[in-house]
Amino acid sequence: MESKIWLSSPHMGGNEQSYINNAFDTNWIAPLGPHVNGFESDLQNYLKEDTHAAVLSSGTAALHLALILLNVKEGDEVICQSKTFSASANPIVYQGATPVFVDSEKDTWNMCPETLEIALQDRIKKGKKPKAIIAVHLYGMPYKADEIHNIANAFNIPVIEDSAEALGSCYKNKKCGTFGDISILSFNGNKIITTSGGGALITKDKAIKQKAVFLSTQARDNAVEYLHSSIGYNYRLSNVLAGIGRGQMEVLDDRVLARRHNFDTYKATLNNIDEITFLEEPEGYYSNRWLSCILTPSEEIKEGLRLKLLEHNIESRPLWKPMHQQPVFKACPSYLNGISDDLFKKGLCLPSGSNLTENELNRVISAIKTYFRA
Ligand SMILES: *Cc1c(COP(=O)(O)O)cnc(C)c1O
Repeated sequence: MESKIWLSSPHMGGNEQSYINNAFDTNWIAPLGPHVNGFESDLQNYLKEDTHAAVLSSGTAALHLALILLNVKEGDEVICQSKTFSASANPIVYQGATPVFVDSEKDTWNMCPETLEIALQDRIKKGKKPKAIIAVHLYGMPYKADEIHNIANAFNIPVIEDSAEALGSCYKNKKCGTFGDISILSFNGNKIITTSGGGALITKDKAIKQKAVFLSTQARDNAVEYLHSSIGYNYRLSNVLAGIGRGQMEVLDDRVLARRHNFDTYKATLNNIDEITFLEEPEGYYSNRWLSCILTPSEEIKEGLRLKLLEHNIESRPLWKPMHQQPVFKACPSYLNGISDDLFKKGLCLPSGSNLTENELNRVISAIKTYFRA
């Protein structure tokens, strides 16, 4: 059997270990310390736009705190893109609130502005104005930020930008992670850079960052004794893991180029197979191509291809199953147009790691060509 080719595996740059050694040498083995502060500065310098970053134990924790900071409470409704990973929606339920799912559009596979508008009007007519909108840059492709934010502003509803998959992507020359009223990043093991587990909350308001740090460190009031006037969380990032993040930030630009190279290689070599189509970048959009995805003509062909790749010890994965199709969310309201269902049927994510060798890329490509007899 040939060696396994993974969908997206961690890719260390080389300096991570020395940051970790420094944490050990100085005994900063805690969820605070110089690497935590340093990693936050690295992120702020990268994202620009006067951002403030609070690094946390996961992207999910960042989403949870974002909802708390926007005052989402029991009985509230929050709009969420249906086509996403479940972690975008779960924290809504942690707050006792209800997700309201909105379908995708074809150009970016992200939240459809028209469907969002229909959903907002209908929720308001039903007496339930949503408290927030969670929009996602799926697979690194930016959502239609002008359209989504214009609608959100018109309805005066804050946007949480889920940029877990899109660090390194840009929309009209601005970095993803800087568009939301609050934005979040993830550094989970499969993301474009990783701290093994970790995340960040990004805001332009320093007071919001301070509140996020306060809540993430057990909400201890400013007193010598342990005094609490609000419920806290243990969500801060470890100084050891933040050291990995500092090493990863040194190679982020290379990681984006490597993932884009994967996509370009797939496209160039598979373009003559009529059954395969790719998601192009609309004008002004720059995707980190976190995962390279293709669309096939049907569910049967997609599944056949997935199994063919598996025969060659190559991991691939269907596009995210929309949240409105998930058993756990089936009672939630959703506003649908058929697009995310169709993408789920036909779409497949190909191996996309920044550490794929040319030889591994060629193995994937020839397995796909064999399947389509191209
Ligand atoms: C990975 C991911 C998250 C959650 O991040 P974790 O760090 O794994 O908690 C949230 N949203 C999306 C779209 C993701 O891909």
